[in-house]
Amino acid sequence: MSTIQPLFEEIKKLTSPHIIITTHHKPDADALGSSLALYNYFKNAGIASQVISPTDYGDFLDWMAGEPTVINFEEHKQLSSEMIAEADYVFCLDFNALSRINDMGGMVANSKCKKVLIDHHLNPESFYDFEHWSSKASSTCELIYEVIRLWDYSFMDRDIARCLYAGIMTDTGSFRFPSTLPSTHMAVAELLKFNIDHHFIHEHIFDSFTEDRVRFVGHVVSQKLVLIPEYHVAYMTVTQDELALFNITTGDTEGLVNYGLGIKGIKFAALFIDRKQLVKMSFRSKGDFPANEFAAKYFKGGGHFNAAGGQSDLSLDDTVKKFIGALPEWSNLLK
Ligand code: 5GP
Ligand code: MN
Repeated sequence: MSTIQPLFEEIKKLTSPHIIITTHHKPDADALGSSLALYNYFKNAGIASQVISPTDYGDFLDWMAGEPTVINFEEHKQLSSEMIAEADYVFCLDFNALSRINDMGGMVANSKCKKVLIDHHLNPESFYDFEHWSSKASSTCELIYEVIRLWDYSFMDRDIARCLYAGIMTDTGSFRFPSTLPSTHMAVAELLKFNIDHHFIHEHIFDSFTEDRVRFVGHVVSQKLVLIPEYHVAYMTVTQDELALFNITTGDTEGLVNYGLGIKGIKFAALFIDRKQLVKMSFRSKGDFPANEFAAKYFKGGGHFNAAGGQSDLSLDDTVKKFIGALPEWSNLLK
């Protein structure tokens, strides 16, 4: 395993290296923001690269510089697999287990390319050659900022700063999670020096929902929220019919789980969404309840200590039963 610092010099010496940048499926602002920040950085340095997303993502990210060049793997499988097979470097951003990039995982594993991990999730799998990793980092965007500092800051610009700001802002819950450190604010202060429109970025991410989405949140919160006061738990379920009724698309369920956690006294909140092939779960916790351990133990998931996710191939009802059945095992942390 090598550190990332000498990598830029190595890449600069090559003539037309093939560089792929990828991130986890259904990328959020940190995932896409870090990917496009790195893409724009290479571009400024005269180095071509290609961002491939394993899936689509919400259109609240479409203002990021370079976004129209992103390839959606699900729509261009043949092209993507050829590019991955021929790559000299694949940058893996904001994930650390190849299962998080779906069918692309095997392709990356089998490619002769050098693999570079830039990530802040716990317990990385060991599939990479270079790393810049810290589970204490607020976001992958903050890590990209560090990488740019280590490499050559003269290639930094406003487009990159906007992408990085978006990821740091969202992954810190607008600078309020415990992961927000002095270094986070110092990085953001530097980003603001590029005269970025942070109000526009905030508005595009948090205040640009469809009417359907807002009514959907109202419906789920008023009709589907269940509290289990004994364990300080709140959960919500969403059926396939409800997703269809409110025309819910990628990104629309983002943040919904936080309504449960926003209730005074609730320590652990869950959201269950029936997505045809599987039930997808989001977990959020306050304080010392390890949402990621819980997700890993019962629902093939993981994530951060206070924000994690998982999945289940049981029915929605049976998944909820399994969830409730697991709570007594955690009663010392939840009571
Ligand atoms: P979200 O609830 O926003 O989908 O995910 C919250 C966090 O949990 C993210 O940091 C994400 O990386 C992680 N996460 C979500 N789903 C999964 C999963 O199925 N497996 C793993 N390992 N992590 C997940
Ligand atoms: Mn992240």
